[in-house]
Amino acid sequence: MPELPEVETIVRGLRPHLVGRTIVSAKLSHDDVLRGVSKRKLVQALKGARVTGMTRRAKHAVIELDLSRLSRPSRPSRLSRPTRLVIQPGMTGSLIIHDEPLTAEEAKYAVLRAPLDDGRELVYRDVRRLGTILLLDEKGWAAYDAALGPEPLDPELTPARFAAIMASSKQAIKKVLMDQRKIVGVGNIYANEALFAAGIDPSKPSSLLTPHQNELLLSHVRRILQAAIDSQGTTFRDYRTGTGEKGNFQLELFVYGREGEKCRVCGTRLAHTHEIDARITVFCHRCQQ
Ligand SMILES: [Zn+2]
Repeated sequence: MPELPEVETIVRGLRPHLVGRTIVSAKLSHDDVLRGVSKRKLVQALKGARVTGMTRRAKHAVIELDLSRLSRPSRPSRLSRPTRLVIQPGMTGSLIIHDEPLTAEEAKYAVLRAPLDDGRELVYRDVRRLGTILLLDEKGWAAYDAALGPEPLDPELTPARFAAIMASSKQAIKKVLMDQRKIVGVGNIYANEALFAAGIDPSKPSSLLTPHQNELLLSHVRRILQAAIDSQGTTFRDYRTGTGEKGNFQLELFVYGREGEKCRVCGTRLAHTHEIDARITVFCHRCQQ
């Protein structure tokens, strides 16, 4: 699943093309990606909406919309403004702006198609439809945002606050690091990488981290997320940037995807387990304590 660096890359790539544009119409192929909004309501809201901003929160792309054209007496809007279209790309999901008409292959798995007033088209494509789409008014967004943990790259997340979050759970540190209610944006790839870089055993109870380990972990989480953003994210298979390119950070991974290979630091063969969180954890017995 696209994590913070991938979604940040998508948002940065799309923002200059989307902000200021008007969505001409919207077509949704399947409604199983929708959360808390009906297909009819979504399509109706998007038609004629002007994009006023685009940001990222956690692993979601957030498109801010001005629906004021809905305030015409004939179509009173019950959505308070501003309204946000929130897309969390799934493992097989991509959010791409197309300059050219879609090919049959591109159109095949297009879940949401939104032609823009400049002739281009915003497309959310998702082969397995593991992503989610929400439409939130101001109040809905406030509640959604409040349920998410702090952003790891936000300077307001001080080492002391990070340490307090880690101290609040006895679960494996890897699970806590990936718990979006504790801290957002970090998924399996970057949790594996950050724990390796910080030399921490991924199964170690979060509350047992030493002050030094907490400090190291936060600094490596930040360094790795930033480096991955600089490389436009990690492409293992499906992930593409907002303009359709592959990311490059897969070339810089130390453990994720390298189980059975030699540790790049000490040469020990990297181990792997699914026991921590049912997902693959790759680690070095020697470098991580
Ligand atoms: Zn090692």
